[in-house]
Amino acid sequence: MRNRFRSIGAALAMIALALPIERQISAQSGTSPEQGGPYPTLLIRNITVIDGSGAPAYGPVNITIRRNLIERVDRADPISAGQGGRANQQAQPDRVIDGTGMYAMPGIVDGHTHVSSNTAVPSEYIYKLLLGHGVTTIRVFNVGNDDPKAMVVEKERSASNQIVAPRMYIYPFWRGGDARYSSPEGARQIVDEWHALGVDGIKIAGKPGLWPDVYHAIAEEARKNGMGVAVHIAQDGVYPLNALQIAGEGASIEHHYGYPESAYTDRAVQQLPDEYNYSNEADRFLETGRSWLQANIEKLHGEVIEKLLDSMRTRGFVMEPTFVVYEANRDVARASSLPWHADFTLPIVMDSFRPDPSHHASYFFNWTSNKEADWARAYRRWLEFVNDYKNRGGIVSVGSDAGSLFTVWGFGTIRELEMLEEAGFSPLEAIHAATENGGKLVKNPKIGVIRPGNLADLVIISENPLANMKVLYGTGITKVSQDRKATIEKCVKFTIRDGVVFDAQKLLDDVRAMVSKGKASTRTTAGAVDR
Ligand SMILES: [Zn+2]
Repeated sequence: MRNRFRSIGAALAMIALALPIERQISAQSGTSPEQGGPYPTLLIRNITVIDGSGAPAYGPVNITIRRNLIERVDRADPISAGQGGRANQQAQPDRVIDGTGMYAMPGIVDGHTHVSSNTAVPSEYIYKLLLGHGVTTIRVFNVGNDDPKAMVVEKERSASNQIVAPRMYIYPFWRGGDARYSSPEGARQIVDEWHALGVDGIKIAGKPGLWPDVYHAIAEEARKNGMGVAVHIAQDGVYPLNALQIAGEGASIEHHYGYPESAYTDRAVQQLPDEYNYSNEADRFLETGRSWLQANIEKLHGEVIEKLLDSMRTRGFVMEPTFVVYEANRDVARASSLPWHADFTLPIVMDSFRPDPSHHASYFFNWTSNKEADWARAYRRWLEFVNDYKNRGGIVSVGSDAGSLFTVWGFGTIRELEMLEEAGFSPLEAIHAATENGGKLVKNPKIGVIRPGNLADLVIISENPLANMKVLYGTGITKVSQDRKATIEKCVKFTIRDGVVFDAQKLLDDVRAMVSKGKASTRTTAGAVDR
């Protein structure tokens, strides 16, 4: 595939735009700035497009970007060129990226992120990891602390290019000391106040947002304001607010909670061990997986999917699985020893993943083969459920929930694409979930599809992600020749957000430097070597 495109590309390069040499900036990392633009005119020449709509790859094309908007996508293949498809060329561009042999796809939307919930983790580290993996938009539930005003300021700093960061949609957590969080009247006031601040939505995780009267007030007020609601149906609120009730109000459902509980036939409340205590996270994270094993499969794939589809059509429900973040539950050895931890995981982040009773989601004490087996069985049911939902027209989006359970920003997002493939999504469907569906999740139809008039959020990759999602990993892919020589190729070349071109590999170099500095200071201050 690639070689064929390469040779067409090479032929076209000969006849392509006659640009003055000094205006061309090489696509090679070594010679391009870490960040440039937005440009009055940016031309990406001779590239193959995966447009994000679910359509097959096509090209080569020339993509013209004017400041932060995609202005034109001109076909440059021999047939279109013969029909005058390339006739209408513009004046000299301010920057040219030679896309010969490369692929452009819409910037990835990671719909479930936390930024610096541990304030010792610099946001710069997180943002550069995300952009380095082609993530141009995040829906973010906290930045630093939970202050909605500060989160809006951070979003604006990104929008005005004061910081190197993805586009942000701000959904603060529904929690805090304010007594109004627990009453319907108070809830409406808070939602309106947040709306006035410029907040995009609300993140609910358990009570008090899952008291049914409070949830209804939040959801209704959010709809009036055009805001979104993202719900983690925690086990303290799943009865009576299971997935069907939550989706019926138009929220997105995060993770896997609430679906199996919608599909019980011989009980209404999950059967739990007598000693179960919700505040014990080892209990909580184990039993929530086991909920899938108590669900009735026929009901799950029948009535439950039908009702969720209804809620999607009438209220805009979106399913956001975040498969990746629970993967440690089915194989903790894999998750804890991933090859990128060495160079890309800050010591403080790695440390937070290790068993610690005082830290959220660090519950891997005595995590046994039996527990992993139950979770692996739960995964099979969950993966099939999500795939079936997609096959029947359901909108599924991509989120990583990185920062917990050995899931690292950027890497987690790409792993989620691989897990969608495992579920049964074709590569085009997985990319569609990460792009156009992400735009639906954040209610912005101008992102997630490469189309004239849309915002210029793109990723430029030297290899075909449809053939191998792993080309998107910051660690690159290893190619081994017949004589056993291995070469590593870092395939994500440029991430373009709002017309600003980032050299993805330079951002990742910065991350590596932060990690090695973190390791050095861990050694000197504690006298201990991490890992
Ligand atoms: Zn989360």
